[in-house]
Amino acid sequence: MAIVVQKYGGSSVATAEKIKNVAQRVGKVFDGGDQVVVVVSAMGDTTDDLIKLAGQVTSDPHPREMDVLLSTGELVASTLLAMAIKNLGYKAISLSGAQAGIKTDTTYRKARIIKIETKRILAELEKGQIVIVAGFQGITDDMDVTTLGRGGSDTSAVALAAALGARICERLTDTDGIYSADPRVVPEAFRLVEIGYEEMLELATYGNKVMQPRAIELAELYNIPIRVASSFNDNPGTLIHGGVSMEVRNKVRSVCYDMDVAKISVLGIPDKPGIAASLFVALAKAGISVDTIVQNSSVNKIADLTFTVTKDQIIEAMKVAKPIAKKLGASDIVADSELGKVSIVGTGMQNTPGFAAKMFDTLSANGINIELISTSEIRITCIIKESKVKEAVRALHKAFEVEV
Ligand code: ASP
Ligand code: MG
Repeated sequence: MAIVVQKYGGSSVATAEKIKNVAQRVGKVFDGGDQVVVVVSAMGDTTDDLIKLAGQVTSDPHPREMDVLLSTGELVASTLLAMAIKNLGYKAISLSGAQAGIKTDTTYRKARIIKIETKRILAELEKGQIVIVAGFQGITDDMDVTTLGRGGSDTSAVALAAALGARICERLTDTDGIYSADPRVVPEAFRLVEIGYEEMLELATYGNKVMQPRAIELAELYNIPIRVASSFNDNPGTLIHGGVSMEVRNKVRSVCYDMDVAKISVLGIPDKPGIAASLFVALAKAGISVDTIVQNSSVNKIADLTFTVTKDQIIEAMKVAKPIAKKLGASDIVADSELGKVSIVGTGMQNTPGFAAKMFDTLSANGINIELISTSEIRITCIIKESKVKEAVRALHKAFEVEV
């Protein structure tokens, strides 16, 4: 008998009615002859509500207490789902992250899973139970509850699928798959039948919010196929896996965007060794993660250095960078928070000339100025004005004739 891990997102368990609908779906999978482990997110906006609630009590909630508080959202959903499944006549049991053996490090709010002790889950499955695991949480060696970062139930699900040797991880939510572009921006966008791990990881990292990038990384590492589909219909959704066919590889698969970009330029710095180190070490120490970095080649031993951060980190990043820029003898430091990025992703780009040229050409034909460019082997990203991002996505989707 094979194990199937299903994960239901917050919108799929937002009400009692929806929980009953999920119970029906889970029952059907069990009837199909698989052993079923279900991971749930908190109902609807519960996690946001709990964060707000803590904020009304204190402006600086203690991380340990915060994680116990946040973990309760998933406990509510998992226990209710277990009750609903039992009510249909199946055997079911809910387990907290700790009871399910999910061991993490001690980084509250962003803990990483270290290992999963599957004994308890396997014992329950052997008894014929459907096992419902509260997502987004684990436990440290000292028995303190941790959470895995926003959207972390995806990671719980894929990690469990890996540890249990599941046949597939099905990720069910209100979005019914991975699209060639955000359908709210590009009405002609269509659902992809399949996509490779590398492509999906780039998409998730560069703005497609459907899945947590960490979950994709884990799936690739353990070669767990993920089916992303809707919990409200029976459409097949999108299969994320390693065996994508050659035909599909030879194209731009999807255009994605992210509005959350701000940039800082340090201008006129004397070009000598150690400049980048002093700046980026300080930023890293302050917990600021830097994305794209560009340094132009120096003219007369004077260079400019530009880097991007998320918008919520721009004030902090300026605070850190300003005194360093001054010490380095920079002539100026300027920030711009009104940026976004648009990316094309596809393994077909590897070793094929012309993708970048076509992207830049399309943007310029639409009067869109490129501020910065970054690339990987299977992605090209242009940083542009935030106000132009959606227009750029539409133009690129059309230009590359993104197709199934
Ligand atoms: N409930 C958590 C969140 O909203 C975890 C999840 O939904 O995956 O971030
Ligand atoms: Mg949630």
